[in-house]
Amino acid sequence: MKVSGKLILKCDNCQMTNTIDSDYLNFECVESCERQMGAENNYYSDYQSECTDCKQKIEIEINVWEYPTGCFSDDEYRIIGATLQKKIDAALKFPE
Ligand SMILES: [Zn+2]
Repeated sequence: MKVSGKLILKCDNCQMTNTIDSDYLNFECVESCERQMGAENNYYSDYQSECTDCKQKIEIEINVWEYPTGCFSDDEYRIIGATLQKKIDAALKFPE
């Protein structure tokens, strides 16, 4: 899975806007199961950051589900220490 764009977060402590480039997020396939239209894959990434202003710790966990293969199905963001403003773009493109 390829991701692009930037994750935009607002610090819960000082309200500073923090931007995290998707290049820092490494997604791994953590679960795969066969369903009617093919495989459903669950990709997961976690990342620890800190606010650029007040240095508050920010923890990020992202799950992306692909189903059927090559199609975005769902996502889930868990962020501690900041509030999500904008999600990254998840592009589910694989080499032929
Ligand atoms: Zn802050």
